[in-house]
Formats: sequence, structure tokens, C-alpha cells
Amino acid sequence: LFITVEGAEGVGKSTNIAFIRSTLESMGIEVVVTREPGGTEMAEEIREVLLKNRTEMVAESAELLLMFAARAQHIESLIKPALVAGKWVISDRFTDATYAYQGGGRGVAFEKIGILETFVQDDFRPDKTILLDAPVEIGMARAHKRGELDRFENEKSAFFERVRNVYLDRMKKDPQRFELIDASKDLETVQLQLKRVIEGIVEV
Ligand code: C5P
Repeated sequence: LFITVEGAEGVGKSTNIAFIRSTLESMGIEVVVTREPGGTEMAEEIREVLLKNRTEMVAESAELLLMFAARAQHIESLIKPALVAGKWVISDRFTDATYAYQGGGRGVAFEKIGILETFVQDDFRPDKTILLDAPVEIGMARAHKRGELDRFENEKSAFFERVRNVYLDRMKKDPQRFELIDASKDLETVQLQLKRVIEGIVEV
């Protein structure tokens, strides 16, 4: 299966992805963990172009095309081959993040993103998407503690509110695919929720 993990800043994606991996492995499932933007050598290079501090304004369609260029490479050279080999692929972010960050965050029209999604992916979509959700103040406070908020841009809480709302909207429109996790709770409670979700996915 192809499982993506999504959420705004400070929701604990890295820690919880490690937990998802070990839970699946303990069930005897072979897992490949990857991330977006990135996941392959070329896609990681594109990630660097996207994330490094810039002095120049970047055209929104340039950013969007780079995201999807990285994604095209990632899907064809890593995700699909792993799935064909019978492994489960867990991706830290995927196309929902483009809707949330470029669409909700930066105001790129969802239609444009949809056109590129179809162009690059045809009907390839995650089988399941685990959405780690927490109120923006909680996520930002955690990210601040780690000194991470100036990593991409000086995004403010209104930006992350829009990101979060797009994720929640997409979940409402596709409830079969999404699993919602309340990431505002303490780690133990979050992982208990995650364990239940994973068991549900494995049983199907
Ligand atoms: O997933 P991670 O937190 O490592 O992502 C790094 C940064 O890339 C995030 O801070 C996020 O703001 C940004 N990003 C983005 N658009 C995406 C995916 C990630 O702006 N589609």
C-alpha cells in the first residue's frame, strides 16, 4: 500500500512516521519510508532548490512545477517500483501538501494544482493518508522550540491556518482515504490512536 502522512508544522510527523514504520515492521510488513519534496537523488536536489533561503521572489508556477517535477521522479523511480516489489511505501508528505501549502498557503489556484496532479499522476493516489492535525498555536509553539520556523519563509499563523484548513477540507471530501489523528494530545495518546488506525488498515 501507498500511505502518505500529512500535517502542518510541529504536528510530530517525523516521530510518528518512525512509529508507523516500526509498528508495520513488527507485523512483518516490508516498509520503505520516503519524503516529499525529495525521496530520490534528483528529487532531493530539487528540494534543496525549493527550501533554501532565497533573496529572489519565486514565481508561483516555477515553485509548483518544481514540486511536481520532483514528484514525477519520486513516483516513477522509487514509489512505484517499491509497490511493485510488494513493499509498503510511507511518504512524509505528498500531493495533499501541495494543495495545502502552495494552494492554501500561497494562494495558487487549486485547479492549476489539479491539472498538474492529473498530468503527473494520472489516477495514481495514496491508498491511505494519515492526517496529523493540531491547532496552529500548538504546532507553531513546538516548531519554534526547535528553531524551525524560519526554515522555509517567515510564514505566520494565518498561513498555517490556511494550510490546516485545506488539509481538513480535503479530508472531508475524501473520508475513505483519510485517517485523522488528533496530534495535539501527548505522544502516548497520539501513538495509541495511530496504532488503532494502522491495525485497521492492515486488516482490510
Ligand atoms: O515536511 P517538512 O516539514 O520537512 O517540509 C519542509 C518544509 O517545506 C516545510 O516547512 C513546509 O513549509 C515546506 N513545504 C512546502 N510545500 C510543500 C511541502 C513542504 O512549502 N508542498
